[in-house]
Amino acid sequence: MAEHGITTIDTGFQRPNFDAAYLIVENGRGAFVDCGTNHSVPAMLQALAGNGLSPADVDWLVLTHVHLDHAGGAGALMRELPNARLLVHPRGAPHMVDPSKLIAGATAVYGEAEMARSYGTILPVPAARVIEAPDGFEFELSGRPLRCIDTPGHARHHLCLWDARSRSWFTGDTFGLSYREFDTVNGAFALPTTTPVQFEPEALKASIGRLLDAGPEAMYVTHYGRVTGVERLAGLLADQIDAMVAAAREAAHAEDVHATLVSALEALYLQQVRAHGVTLPDDGIRAVLAMDIELNAQGLEVWLQRQSGQAAHS
Ligand SMILES: [Zn+2]
Repeated sequence: MAEHGITTIDTGFQRPNFDAAYLIVENGRGAFVDCGTNHSVPAMLQALAGNGLSPADVDWLVLTHVHLDHAGGAGALMRELPNARLLVHPRGAPHMVDPSKLIAGATAVYGEAEMARSYGTILPVPAARVIEAPDGFEFELSGRPLRCIDTPGHARHHLCLWDARSRSWFTGDTFGLSYREFDTVNGAFALPTTTPVQFEPEALKASIGRLLDAGPEAMYVTHYGRVTGVERLAGLLADQIDAMVAAAREAAHAEDVHATLVSALEALYLQQVRAHGVTLPDDGIRAVLAMDIELNAQGLEVWLQRQSGQAAHS
């Protein structure tokens, strides 16, 4: 049996061990946390079967936020789960009922071809099945208490889910990315994710602080899996958020902002990963992080533009 009734599901998005969803089981009832894309539905249903559950035994699909690697398959999955309700941040709920803006936003980041290949047609969720989870929202899974808190910083529609039973948070992207390729004798490594378009460094650090306040034993991060040593990881994340913001400010004056930022981030993460004791060759490290470096650079550029916009208007 999975520890604390929690199963890690590889959604299959992009590559193995990249994008996780979770299934929490209590007394034969299930709650999913995030769901990958349309292509992940079979893996989600297989996880149910593996735990002896049928689709009718699922009470909840909780979305940490509405970015498509977490929520893209929600509409398709909900069609398979006759008794489930969708729990989502109040800012994310409208986009699940009417995904048109979400699709437009993601197309702007990823492009048409990648949208079609990786995500397919995003299906809406009927409004009657959607429940908004504001900060402090409590609910239960067959008597097992669960609680959501508002965690802006990666996105303003982000929540994290506290499971008192396992003393763990399901952190979506708030607690960064922690790839198993970088595990060493020192434990897990983590780096922040600043995917466009709502990265807010101070809010992100404050959200990470709120997660630590609960005294968690572990974090279930989407990318990828359960991690411990949470205080050390939080320190790593805070240091890197500061370094990334500094790199963005410096790159702002460069001729090619994007290229300058990409190489600055690459240098930062290589140095951090090496300091953690990872012995993969540089190319191997770059291969694991290539997509995140690109997205983090884009997100930092959007943040930079917002800063200068605010300065111009003040
Ligand atoms: Zn993500």
